[in-house]
Amino acid sequence: MDNITALGGDVYEIDTRMAGYAGITAGYLILSDRPCLVETGTSTSAPVVRDAIASLGVGPGDLATVVVTHIHLDHAGGVGDIARSFPSAQVVVHEKGARHLAEPSRLMASARMVWGDKLDTLFGELAPTEAERILALGDTGAIDLGNGRTLSSHYAPGHAKHHVGLVDSATGDLYVGDAAGVYLPETGDLRPATPPPDFDLKTALDSIALFEALGPQRLLFSHYGPVEAVEETLERSAEELRVWVDLTQQARSEGMDLDHAVAMVRDRTKERYSALTADEATAEQFELLNGAGSNVAGIMHWLDRVSP
Ligand SMILES: [Zn+2]
Repeated sequence: MDNITALGGDVYEIDTRMAGYAGITAGYLILSDRPCLVETGTSTSAPVVRDAIASLGVGPGDLATVVVTHIHLDHAGGVGDIARSFPSAQVVVHEKGARHLAEPSRLMASARMVWGDKLDTLFGELAPTEAERILALGDTGAIDLGNGRTLSSHYAPGHAKHHVGLVDSATGDLYVGDAAGVYLPETGDLRPATPPPDFDLKTALDSIALFEALGPQRLLFSHYGPVEAVEETLERSAEELRVWVDLTQQARSEGMDLDHAVAMVRDRTKERYSALTADEATAEQFELLNGAGSNVAGIMHWLDRVSP
C-alpha cells in the first residue's frame, strides 16, 4: 500500500490520511513477535490504519498492543475503533488519560467546544474502550514487544499532561508524539506545539531534556516521520519553544488581545519556516497541523496561570 513506509528494524510508518490529507499524522506499526501499534490517528482514519495493519500480515487476533503518546484526537481518536477490530490488543496510555479512553464523553464535549463543526471532518468521534483492556502507565512503564524486545515509556508532559515518550530497546527509536513539536519533512521545518489548556514551558523543556538524556538513535514524529539528527533536532525543539514564548510574552505585556498577538507572532516567526514561504499547499498543511492561533492561545493560557 502506498501509505506504508518501511523504516528498518521491523518498524513501519503508516500515513493515517488524516481528514483525507497525506503527510499530516503518522501511526507506526512495530512488527515484532508481539506486534504493537503506536498512535491510531483519528477515528475517521481507523479504516485506513486497519487496512494497513492487515496488509502487513497482522490478523485481527495478532495485534498485541495499541499505545498512544497522549489522548489528543489526532493521536488517539481511533483507539476505540482499532480496539474493536483487534480484540486481543491491550490499550496502553498514561494514567492521566486512561479514563477518557474508557469514558470519552467529557473529552468529546470539550473538543467540540474548541472545534465546532470541524470536529466531524477533522477527527470524528472517539469510541469507548472497555476499562479492563486499558493499561495505565505511571512515570515509567514497559510494553513487551516479544523476544526480549521492549518499548519503555517515559512521562513527558508539557504539550499535554498525559503525554509519554516511548523508546524501542531494539532500534533506539524514540516516539516523541508532540512533545518535541511538529516536524515537516518536506522542508525540515520544526515548530512548537503549545495548545491550551495544558501547555507549560518548564515541563515542556524538562521533557525535551529527558529525551536528550535517553540517548535515542532516531526520533519518530507523529507529525511527521523519522529524523536521525537527534541532538540538533531536540535543541531546535527547545529553541522554538523559547522563541514563541518570548514573542507571546512581549505581545501580552504590550496589552495585545489574542487576535493581535497571533498576528504579531505569526509575522515575527514567519521567516523561520520555509514552509510558510514555499507553495500555498505546504503552508496550509503546516497551519492545519499546528496553527499559530492554537500555539499562541496555549502560551497565553499558561502565562495567565503563572503570572496573572
Ligand atoms: Zn498531534
